[in-house]
Amino acid sequence: MANEKKYLTEEDRLAAIRANARAYYHRNKEKASASARAWHAANKDKPGRIERQRANAARMYQRRRDEIRARNAAWYAANRDQVIERSKERHLRDRYGVEDYEAMLAAQGGRCACCGTDKPGGHGKRFAVDHCHDSLRVRGLLCQGCNTGLGMMGDSIERLRMAISYLEAQRGR
Ligand SMILES: [Zn+2]
Repeated sequence: MANEKKYLTEEDRLAAIRANARAYYHRNKEKASASARAWHAANKDKPGRIERQRANAARMYQRRRDEIRARNAAWYAANRDQVIERSKERHLRDRYGVEDYEAMLAAQGGRCACCGTDKPGGHGKRFAVDHCHDSLRVRGLLCQGCNTGLGMMGDSIERLRMAISYLEAQRGR
């Protein structure tokens, strides 16, 4: 194919194919997962089909293991704080229980305990379970903005007061 000429190495060519496949997948996510589900439903009872699919995936992983591990490690390094925060939140939510979360949210009128918005914000559909970092006591449910804002300010009342003073002093300048 004339197309292949622009790649210097086989590795470049394969990387381009993978990048294309990823881009295609992201453009057609819904369709792709629907057809994957349909394939699974149609094949799950056929002997050996799923196993072969798994074996293929495992072989693919073995071939690209170093590349995949390096990519995962880089992603983790870049997202470490967020991962740790998420897992703390998940832990609290597990310990605290979904029913308690719902009861707590209802008690807060379905709103952030700090700013009163009814939009959780961020990627999740839930408010963040805010807790005291020392005692781990749950304080309330906060929107993404308030939760990260308080966290960035070290949960420090002193520092938040200084931030208010700063903003007031700057007002109307
Ligand atoms: Zn808020």
